[in-house]
Order: sequence, then C-alpha cells, then structure tokens
Amino acid sequence: MSVRKLHDIAIVGAGMVGAALALALARAGFDVAVIEPRAPKPWNAQDDVDLRVVALAPSSVDLFVRLNVWNEIASARASAYRRMRVWDALAPGELTFDAADEGRSALGFIAENRLIQSVLWNALQRESRIALHSPGKVTSTESLSGRRTLTLDDGSSIAAKLVVAADGADSALREMAGIGTSDRDYRQRAIVAHVTTERAHEITAWQRFLPGATLAFLPLADGRSSIVWSVPDAEVTRLLALDDAAFCAELGAAFDFRLGRITATTPRASFPLRMKLAERYLAPRFALIGDAAHGVHPLAGQGVNLGLRDVDELCAVLIEARDAKRDFAAESVLRCYERRRRSDNVLSAHSFDAINRVFGSEAMPVAALRGAGLTLVNRIEPLKRMLSNHAAGRTRRVDAMR
Ligand SMILES: Cc1cc2nc3c(=O)[nH]c(=O)nc-3n(C[C@H](O)[C@H](O)[C@H](O)COP(=O)(O)OP(=O)(O)OC[C@H]3O[C@@H](n4cnc5c(N)ncnc54)[C@H](O)[C@@H]3O)c2cc1C
Repeated sequence: MSVRKLHDIAIVGAGMVGAALALALARAGFDVAVIEPRAPKPWNAQDDVDLRVVALAPSSVDLFVRLNVWNEIASARASAYRRMRVWDALAPGELTFDAADEGRSALGFIAENRLIQSVLWNALQRESRIALHSPGKVTSTESLSGRRTLTLDDGSSIAAKLVVAADGADSALREMAGIGTSDRDYRQRAIVAHVTTERAHEITAWQRFLPGATLAFLPLADGRSSIVWSVPDAEVTRLLALDDAAFCAELGAAFDFRLGRITATTPRASFPLRMKLAERYLAPRFALIGDAAHGVHPLAGQGVNLGLRDVDELCAVLIEARDAKRDFAAESVLRCYERRRRSDNVLSAHSFDAINRVFGSEAMPVAALRGAGLTLVNRIEPLKRMLSNHAAGRTRRVDAMR
C-alpha cells in the first residue's frame, strides 16, 4: 500500500464542525484532506423544514460570516430569535433575555442542520486546497515519525502531519487513538417535531423545565415552532405512540399553553441523550474537536456552538505556529488548543448536567430554590450578562481574533 502525498491536515468527519474546520484551514493556506462516509442530503427549498435544527449563537454566525457561507444559509432559510424566556413548572420566577437589551438585533438564529451541512459541503467541493474522500471511512490510524496515517475502508491510505477527528460523539477515531471518555447516560431522549401554535411565537425561544423533562420551543421563519422535548426513556415510547391530536394536547399542557393550543404537528423523531467527555483532546499528531471531544445535553442548545468555538481556537493555534515557522502539529501547540477549549467545554457540559439534574428534581426545597434562582438571576444584571455572554460565545479569546 503506497502513501503518495503528505497533507498538512486530515480531518475525519465533515459534519458541521469538521466541514467548518476544513474550510477555515484551507482558506488559511493549509493543504487539507477530508474523509466522510456520507455526503449530506442536498437541501431543497421546496422540502419542509428538516426536523434537525440548531440554535446558532452569535459566535457561530460570526464564524460562518468569516467563512463566507452565512449569506447562503441565512437567505435560504434561517430564523432569528430576539428573546428567550425560561421558566419552571414547579416554582414561580422567569429568566428573560432580550437582544435589544444588549444592543443586538438577534440573540441567535435557528437553522436546519441539513442546510448548514449542504452549504458547507458545497463550499468544500469548490476549495482547491481540499481533497475530499467521500464516501470514505477510516478503519485504522497510526502515528509514524512526523506524520499520521489513516487507512480507509477501500484499502487506500492518507498521510498528514496532523489528523483531526471530527467524527461525532461516538468517534471511532477517538477510540483508535486510545482516548477514553467519561459518560453519563441521561436515560432521556429528545423528541423533536415542528408544531403550529394558536398564537404567534413572538420570535422568542421558550424553555420550560418540568419534573424530569425540559421543553424548548424554537421559532421558525414560517411561524411554526421547532420543539425539543427531553423526556425520560420510559415516557418517550408512550409520547411517540400517541396520535397527533393527543400528542398536541399533552404538549400544549406541558408548555403551559404559553402560545395557546398546539393545532398541528409534523411526524416526530427522537434522539438518545448522553454526556460524553473525552479525557484528553490529544494524541501524537492527533486532536479531537466538536462532539468527538464533548457530547453535551441539548437543553442549552450549545453542542455545535461549542464545537465551532473549538474550530476558532484550533485554527488560531495552528496558524500562529505555522507563521512562526514551528511544527504546527507539535504537542506543545496542540496542548495550547486543549488548554483553551477543554475547560470551557467541560464547564459547559457540567453546567448543563447540573441544570438538568436540579430542574429534574421534584424535591420541594430544590424546587423552591430553583424558582428563587431564576428570579434572582433575572434581577442581577452582571450575572445575567455573564450567562448571556457565555451562551453567545463571547469569550475573551474569540473576541480578540476579530
Ligand atoms: C435533539 C438535539 C438538539 C440539538 N440542538 C442543538 C442546538 O440548538 N444548538 C447546538 O449548538 N447544538 C445542538 N445539538 C447538538 C448538535 O447537533 C451537535 O453538537 C452537532 O451536530 C455536532 O457536530 P459534529 O460535526 O461535531 O458531529 P456530527 O454531526 O456527529 O458529525 C460527525 C461526522 O463524522 C462522520 N463520521 C463518523 N464516523 C466516521 C469515520 N469513521 N470516518 C469518517 N467520518 C466519520 C459522520 O458521517 C458525520 O458527518 C442538538 C443535539 C440534539 C440531539
């Protein structure tokens, strides 16, 4: 088996994070190989809004603007949300965020995963510095002196000075590199659907905590809301088996009828929820990024936003090292990326975990505390600003790069 070319960087997985990284690195002048088993299904404006959507924080939108893909995403089908309202079924109090208070026009945008992936994929195909290997699946990897090789399922081989695994929460590459994870199975699934409500969604992202569950309504441009309803495994089967009318009635009640009755729903899908944190992000000439490094509970809508912040930081350290004529895949360089991102990711994951546990509890003292907590946080401006800044991805490092 012959390895012909030595790429600067090989990226395994072209989900939203891997594809964004590939584009950013190619635009910065690196020679990049991308390996992805499945090209994303093409996005089509005539199709209904895909069931998988993400809430993009301003930091993610900024990255897409810099990669010159945001206009295409926004003009195809993305919806801004201006406000966020969070409340609890067991205690009084509400936490509200308003873009206007921060002098912005939106807190973030809701966009379909498939649309983002298609736009990024098309951009990858146009990039002369990117060699796209798709369909292609990595079956083994080996670190040799000054390079890392990847063997693909068709028997071919790719060599690069650095390999970045962006192959998602069940990352095979992470396992091949011998990196363990700490896991928590929430024994919950997220039910997703798009629903029509009696009243307008007010361009607001809504979130209600319920005993053992969280329910988010994300505003879509066509007036519907995309729901993410995280419920215990035992409940999921029952909720998915309900007919539409019964499901809408239960959903309306769980949402406290904030937007009136739910009058229609699309078919529903569900996804298992786990926290999966890599014990380290590095191996020789190897780094983890995105969900491969940190799978988190979706209650705060931050998974891909954290991954795109990884993209910013990894690019920054690689460019800095290359421009200083250093080996950009050296451990000291990669360590810098790990230091900058791991603490934020771990802290975020544990915060979402703690919120899920505290708000999932029905014990009365906890319930009273959390109601007081929401009211209190809502009144303490600096604390509220800190939470809002974190959700928006306004960290000192990312700001400094602008
Ligand atoms: C219900 C739900 C709602 C969510 N809502 C939000 C939200 O509002 N906001 C937010 O920020 N996040 C949200 N998330 C999280 C978000 O979807 C993920 O964080 C994000 O998709 C991770 O992107 P990724 O590119 O790291 O990984 P993935 O999307 O998992 O992509 C991995 C890629 O690697 C490829 N791959 C796999 N194995 C191999 C291999 N061996 N060789 C080569 N390629 C391989 C796969 O085909 C895939 O393309 C949500 C998650 C769920 C479940």
